Amino acid sequence: MTDSGQATPVGLVISGVTGRMGRTVARLAAADPGFRLLGGIDREGAEPVAELPEVVGLDGAARLLGEAGAVIDFSAPAFLREMLTSGVDALSGGLVVGTTGLGPEEERLLAATAERIPVLTAANFSMGVALVAALTERAAAALGDGFDIEIIEAHHRRKEDAPSGTALMLGGAAAAGRGLELDDARRDGRSGRPGARTAGEIGFHAVRGGDVVGEHQVLFIGDHERIEIVHRAGDRALFADGALRAARWLAGRTPGRYSLRDVLGI
Ligand code: NAD
Repeated sequence: MTDSGQATPVGLVISGVTGRMGRTVARLAAADPGFRLLGGIDREGAEPVAELPEVVGLDGAARLLGEAGAVIDFSAPAFLREMLTSGVDALSGGLVVGTTGLGPEEERLLAATAERIPVLTAANFSMGVALVAALTERAAAALGDGFDIEIIEAHHRRKEDAPSGTALMLGGAAAAGRGLELDDARRDGRSGRPGARTAGEIGFHAVRGGDVVGEHQVLFIGDHERIEIVHRAGDRALFADGALRAARWLAGRTPGRYSLRDVLGI
């Protein structure tokens, strides 16, 4: 705390800062007295961002990371991987990861990093989606095998990974409600002659187009009725806001892996 009784602002570094999410985080953090913006990390030679004192490539990131109370990453799996293998040793603050499409190698590196510092990952920083996940798990458990589960997601035309990290997270919640492993139940976008639907499979379908921020629909389809749980994100400030809340919560925690459920206390 400062002399005035205000909590000390968290020194923030944003990774992937020139992207859509990175810029949104920078804009919101600049207007938030709970943060002091230290700088951003992006590809070598990336353009400056108005709210930040500097934007550096990974080669020059060690000093920034060393000063950070928290790093928020919305970049790409390859970039996160590079940061986790090169610069992250300098970081003693918390790491908040919103990047999706992570593979086993990124997961392994995150687990290793979490032995030294607090790490929070979320495929979706919306509080509404956290609620949808909880409802999906309960509905899957309550409705049982008589209802087939399909998940449809829609995103803007530039999104690179599919199905979305959020769709997989919701699929994981549905599988947990059924007592299944998602890897065993997952069935991505049917095409050709996939044959009849097998019992217990969870189908995923990805729509891409325009500037859709993010929509997720979980369908429970029975013989005579259908239940749909839908979430529509209106503005990516929603995710930036959630990531900043997570960063404030994470600063100063003990090392380990955390999720949005820890922040929300659910
Ligand atoms: P974007 O393409 O607009 O920004 C990505 C940034 O990463 C850019 O500044 C780019 O220069 C940088 N980058 C560095 N190396 C890169 C590489 N090898 N490939 C691609 N980019 C590289 O993307 P965005 O819409 O800001 O999304 C960034 C990530 O955040 C994506 O993985 C997206 O799915 C995820 N996302 C998560 C949430 C959430 O709530 N968790 C919400 C929105 C987006």
